[in-house]
Amino acid sequence: MSTTTHAIAAATPGAPLAPATIQRRDLRSDDVLIDVAYAGICHSDIHQVNQEWGTAIFPMVPGHEIAGVVAAVGADVTRYQVGDRVGVGCMVDSCGECEYCLAGTEQFCVKGNVQTYNAVGFDGENTYGGYSRQIVVKDAFVCRIPDGIELDVAAPLLCAGITTYSPLRRWGAGPGKKVAVVGLGGLGHMAVKLAVAMGAEVTVLSQSLKKHEDGLRLGAKDYFATSDASTFDVLERRFDLIVNTVSANLPVDSYLGLLRVGGAMVSVGAPGDPQFYSAFSLLGGNNVLAGSMIGGIAETQEMLDFCAAHGVGAEIETISGDQVNTAYERVQNSDVRYRFVIDASTIGA
Ligand code: NAP
Ligand code: ZN
Repeated sequence: MSTTTHAIAAATPGAPLAPATIQRRDLRSDDVLIDVAYAGICHSDIHQVNQEWGTAIFPMVPGHEIAGVVAAVGADVTRYQVGDRVGVGCMVDSCGECEYCLAGTEQFCVKGNVQTYNAVGFDGENTYGGYSRQIVVKDAFVCRIPDGIELDVAAPLLCAGITTYSPLRRWGAGPGKKVAVVGLGGLGHMAVKLAVAMGAEVTVLSQSLKKHEDGLRLGAKDYFATSDASTFDVLERRFDLIVNTVSANLPVDSYLGLLRVGGAMVSVGAPGDPQFYSAFSLLGGNNVLAGSMIGGIAETQEMLDFCAAHGVGAEIETISGDQVNTAYERVQNSDVRYRFVIDASTIGA
């Protein structure tokens, strides 16, 4: 028993995305049916469509930056009503019982969190993501989008927002702290906006100065091109925190040299190939090289509320469903300002 909905899917690894129809399950008692309004395009979608992270499940309907409106709720759902504005990010289920789920870090569930797409749910069914007209999600994995944030600029918050908010919070971005953001793409521009809203002094490290003006408009104090070797001399030992959002490998040692003593570099970028660093780059300054994966559901709600309170949303370019392949090419060419968002009403129209 299920209902058919329009979607955009990759049939095989690396295949262009094309219109498709998929089945959404009938509502269970704790399910929410969402009419998707907008779905952001994350570079993780592209990594997975191209199978850069290992074997993936096809056909694949990507999309884990979902904003929409509740269309129906299951019998036991009390926290949402028809008409509520909601969002769904990278996860749609977890065991709910392990130490990590109980700590609000469902992304580290010992049974494995169920990803919004390219995953198999605990019911044995494949999951399909947000590039579609409708999605059915367990209520505990649905967040509320506060009034005051439009749905289109809210969608990217569900991944790009939480993935940068979480490490900025954990590593203490705030007044008196110097934060560098490497890569001014989808995640990077959110990292800049959020770190500025938290009160940190922010520097953008981008491949070139092409987006210099944008970076300053987003609130950065400084902007440097990493293609200019002198950047690494000028900024030596400058930063308390570096957030690396780059989707490709970087010369890690060069960036570690920009950390103050005790400073941390957090990788949120997820290139498929291994990266290397010298131990001396860390022990020479008691430095930390860390990683961070999205954020838990409660923290995602906290981030959405923070964004509403500080007037933070994504900078977006809205596209129709038939423009997704062009958008993928542009993201891969670092030609995105700063998130493509699919208008879901155009899918299958
Ligand atoms: P994006 O919009 O493509 O941004 C990545 C940026 O990195 C580009 O705009 C570019 O910025 C820079 N860049 C790209 N190629 C580069 C290269 N060869 N050398 C140096 N810089 C380069 O991607 P995104 O959606 O923000 O995602 C970024 C990464 O985070 C992806 O790997 C994605 O899978 C990962 N991710 C991780 C998590 C997590 O939980 N940790 C969550 C979501 C996404 P400039 O033009 O400014 O240099
Ligand atoms: Zn993402």
